[in-house]
Amino acid sequence: MRALVYHGTKDVRIDKVPDAKIEKPTDVVVKITTTNICGSDLHMYEGRTNVESGKVLGHENLGRVEEVGKAVDTVRVGDYVCLPFNIGCGFCANCERGLTGFCLTCAVPGSAGAAYGFAGMGPYSGGQAEYLRVPYADFNCLQLPADVTEKENDYVMLSDVFPTGWHATELAGITPGDSVVIYGAGPVGLMACLSATLRGASKVMVVDRHPDRLKLAEQMGAIAIDDSNGDAVDKVLALTDGAGADCGCEAVGYQCHDHHGHEVPNLTMNNLVKSVKATGGIGVVGVFIPVDPMASDPLAKKGQIAFDFGSFWVKGQKIRSGQANVKAYNRKLRDLITAGKAKPAMIVSHELSLDKAPEAYKNFDDKVKGWTKVLLKPGL
Ligand code: NAD
Ligand code: ZN
Repeated sequence: MRALVYHGTKDVRIDKVPDAKIEKPTDVVVKITTTNICGSDLHMYEGRTNVESGKVLGHENLGRVEEVGKAVDTVRVGDYVCLPFNIGCGFCANCERGLTGFCLTCAVPGSAGAAYGFAGMGPYSGGQAEYLRVPYADFNCLQLPADVTEKENDYVMLSDVFPTGWHATELAGITPGDSVVIYGAGPVGLMACLSATLRGASKVMVVDRHPDRLKLAEQMGAIAIDDSNGDAVDKVLALTDGAGADCGCEAVGYQCHDHHGHEVPNLTMNNLVKSVKATGGIGVVGVFIPVDPMASDPLAKKGQIAFDFGSFWVKGQKIRSGQANVKAYNRKLRDLITAGKAKPAMIVSHELSLDKAPEAYKNFDDKVKGWTKVLLKPGL
């Protein structure tokens, strides 16, 4: 089959690789119809992870079930399913509690959490390919209704960015009427913006410096804050009577930078401390990693940031972080899509054939104007 393979920094290619196949009786094989490029793929693309050469990337996957293992009960050939980016077993101590982003069975021994096509998250191949092997299929497949044919671009967002945006708002503890500041207007920040609105936030402020992305936030009813023409913290404080937002979300991660492009690894975290009110909640879904040898900042090389802990402590704020437990939310978010109450596909900018993936990576990574969210369609 054809698949997008990582060969090295900024070198991804469409190669012929062995077909995905059933390896355990609890697996299914899915013929991929839509697979997205994610901001998390860019950490690997930019050579900022230890992902091995030869890895097939792609963790945001939707498709039609092609083959079913003998021990699979509920999934049938022909079903359309969306796969959470994290692979869970369903029966470990973490999956049992809904913490499927930290599965102990599927993870590399000694760690928690597994994913398709991802650095450090197990041996699983990604879905930027014609076919994908799905382990523990009864647990991992989210069944999609018949309107998948019209709403496939909405439903594919259930694999990652929509539940991840929701997770940011959950970790931040947003309740109806709250004001919220979100750093980052990439797909994850925009989905946090949509989620905050669905949860009844009274005011959503989104910080970034890409006008095309900020415009999408405005279309969702948020106040766009462009930090390339003034300090974002000052603007949030001015919009909240000097108190700061009730809650904040981090949707950027360890490669956050100033608007000139210089990496400042503590920028978003310290801006959150400054622009969230005393006692407020902060949800961090942007990825931070334990070691980053390619960072120029000496602390960041060791996975550390100079965090304003004193201000954080004095303000009595709360921070929660980590991979999204996609399965904790994906059914209900699916039902919002089916009911027409959420349209996450509004962030989609490009639908391309799999063969176009290498140039799509380049444009998405370069933040070329208008390249907000790329969907690859192996059938095109
Ligand atoms: P993206 O790269 O498309 O978007 C990031 C955005 O952040 C960009 O628009 C950029 O301009 C903006 N940005 C950079 N520095 C900033 C700053 N100082 N202040 C404000 N905005 C700034 O990525 P994405 O797909 O939206 O993903 C965002 C993050 O979420 C990444 O770190 C990704 O790895 C992570 N992620 C986490 C999970 C999870 O489960 N926790 C899941 C998916 C993605
Ligand atoms: Zn993703």
